[in-house]
Amino acid sequence: MSDAQRADELRGLVRDAAHRYYVLDDPAVDDAMYDDWLRELEAIEVAHPDLVTPDSPTQRVGAGPAAGFESHSHDQPMLSLANARGDQELLEWNTRLASVLAQEGLAGAAVQFVVEPKIDGLAISLTYEDGQLVVGATRGDGTVGEDVTANIRTIQSVPLVLRPQAGPPPRRVEVRGEVYLPLEAFAQFNEIRAAEGLPTFANPRNAAAGSLRQLDPRLTAERPLSAWFYAVGASDGLHVEAQTDVLTWLGDAGFAVNPLIEVVDDITAAAAACARWEERRGDIDYDIDGAVVKMNSLEQQRRLGAVARAPRWAIAYKFAPTTATTLLKAININVGRTGAIIPWAELEPVHVGGVTVQHATLHNQDDLARKDLRIGDTVVVQRAGDVIPQVVSALIQRRTGAEVPFVLPTECPSCGTTLVRPEDEVMWRCPNRSCPDQLVQSVIHFASRGCMDIVGLGDKTVAKLFEVGLVGNVADIYDITAEQLIPLEGFKDQSAANLVAGISASRERPWPRVINALGIRHVGEVTARSIALVAPSLDALLAASPEDLARAEGVGPVVAEAVTEFLSSDDNRAMLRRLCTSGLTMEIDVPEGPVDGPLTGCTVVVTGGLDAFSRDEAKRAIVAAGGKSTDSVSKKTTFVVAGRDPGSKVAKAESAGVPVIDEVGFQRLLAGDDPLPERQAGV
Ligand code: NAD
Repeated sequence: MSDAQRADELRGLVRDAAHRYYVLDDPAVDDAMYDDWLRELEAIEVAHPDLVTPDSPTQRVGAGPAAGFESHSHDQPMLSLANARGDQELLEWNTRLASVLAQEGLAGAAVQFVVEPKIDGLAISLTYEDGQLVVGATRGDGTVGEDVTANIRTIQSVPLVLRPQAGPPPRRVEVRGEVYLPLEAFAQFNEIRAAEGLPTFANPRNAAAGSLRQLDPRLTAERPLSAWFYAVGASDGLHVEAQTDVLTWLGDAGFAVNPLIEVVDDITAAAAACARWEERRGDIDYDIDGAVVKMNSLEQQRRLGAVARAPRWAIAYKFAPTTATTLLKAININVGRTGAIIPWAELEPVHVGGVTVQHATLHNQDDLARKDLRIGDTVVVQRAGDVIPQVVSALIQRRTGAEVPFVLPTECPSCGTTLVRPEDEVMWRCPNRSCPDQLVQSVIHFASRGCMDIVGLGDKTVAKLFEVGLVGNVADIYDITAEQLIPLEGFKDQSAANLVAGISASRERPWPRVINALGIRHVGEVTARSIALVAPSLDALLAASPEDLARAEGVGPVVAEAVTEFLSSDDNRAMLRRLCTSGLTMEIDVPEGPVDGPLTGCTVVVTGGLDAFSRDEAKRAIVAAGGKSTDSVSKKTTFVVAGRDPGSKVAKAESAGVPVIDEVGFQRLLAGDDPLPERQAGV
């Protein structure tokens, strides 16, 4: 193939890929492959300048605005960045800078650099007039972008008005930054989409772009987008001399400026900063795909200017890609803690994003079918930060015909029960509540970080404890003794003592964490917290009706139904009671009231109906009088207020020696008329 033919072919490949990436937010190939094509095309064009066509992708940035949006012409073009792969290319860039500066009569000038994390999101431009946000736009093709003002207004970290701390606002200023989706939000977002049968996004960048480019701003508002700001474009009335001044002004004016940004005095120090961040990229909760090294002096920047699609004074130091291609060896299935059948990919080990990946999630059968993944395919694997590796797509052009489509089994691989697919769901499920794999997964979830956080109780240990019969459900965990653990393979005196100590410490986890740990379908950390507010104790939770639960923020009929179903199982109720007896925190900590009320230091339980107060009013009265209101009687209870039909709490209080008073006595105490009742000796 001649260079001209190859250049033509590459232009077609890059153009198609760019359309999928920038316009549809749904890339067809991985970034490394796209970058390779673009570099090859650039190399051919450098060698044969006559082959450069005005519409070549090397001459332009991104893609034009999508249909449905108003277009916005940028006051100053929004360019892309040239990139350097590795230190050598960074040093070569520095050498080029020095020679251009020399041509400009600035030979040997000291150059300071600002090194910024390269956020893998989507560039935005915000225009402020007299301090007010007037337009928010995407980069588009660099000259014309999409007007997404209404969507941008929904992002909390975008100031709608410049703060006066930055001084009098410029008459007009264009601020540039990057909108992104934090990694955790991305993972949750994809999980929800997969559960709803919607296509998942390949990576946080595409999810952020897809979210910002919604025609209905209400949809954008539902996505937890954030933004970092790093540049000022055209301005009228802003006086800055260096990139560092720009960053200071942005911070003062109310924009989020990334705290990792460093200022260094030479290129070696810049390279060292890039290397440090590459190593630590997994520690932050958003994706960075490199570092941007910029000359600090704006005067030097002006002297250097720009080439076709990128400024000369900045370069993107690219990190090792977080996507790679590898062989899909097999598709297996896992049974999740709620019985969901989750396919996963067994891969030929591949190095991606700093680790070796050999497993990746495939979400569900529909997602798998939509991606048309076949065993034996060459697939694109993606790993971003902490996000579980996933298979993005198959490279269909590499198929030989020997690839085998995956057929979902009809029976649960763990217990043999026939799998079911509820009508309006995308997941197949194992309906057997005693399915061994489900039980193991529910204990793993219970002990995990964000739930009971039991140090030392990881996946393998849980599997072993099941195998030897020490654990059959989560309540069994609290009966484990060091003596039982020591004879087991992999345990010694110290590790057994550590695990028992870890289990014991988990008793202190607050009530919302316990609710999250139960692994109820649709109930995650945030929902658990709102359920704890309407059901502030175990008793309240057990007594809660679906209507009570639906009062919790974020709880709709589906979640309420899932909680009710969980609580309607006798086994689950018995397990919850055992957890309570084992000393777990099963009520919410009500904040202490004022220090100097008549009930200061008291813990009070109200039971039965009162005449002058509803239950909530009674609780508020206790807190207002300096006390703490709880729902269950314990050794810490100071006294119990018994109204009509008080139930078993009175008997429990009496047997524990806790004083019981009536409503009139309660009112006298609140008024400060009576002294506090004295505790009796327990019987
Ligand atoms: P780029 O991502 O390499 O660099 C330019 C962009 O970096 C800027 O527009 C800005 O949005 C961003 N940026 C983040 N932090 C910044 C900071 N601190 N300072 C300045 N800019 C910062 O260039 P690009 O033109 O947006 O796109 C190229 C990227 O997109 C490549 O990584 C390429 O692989 C990928 N891509 C992939 C496909 C595909 O099919 N997989 C297609 C097109 C593009």
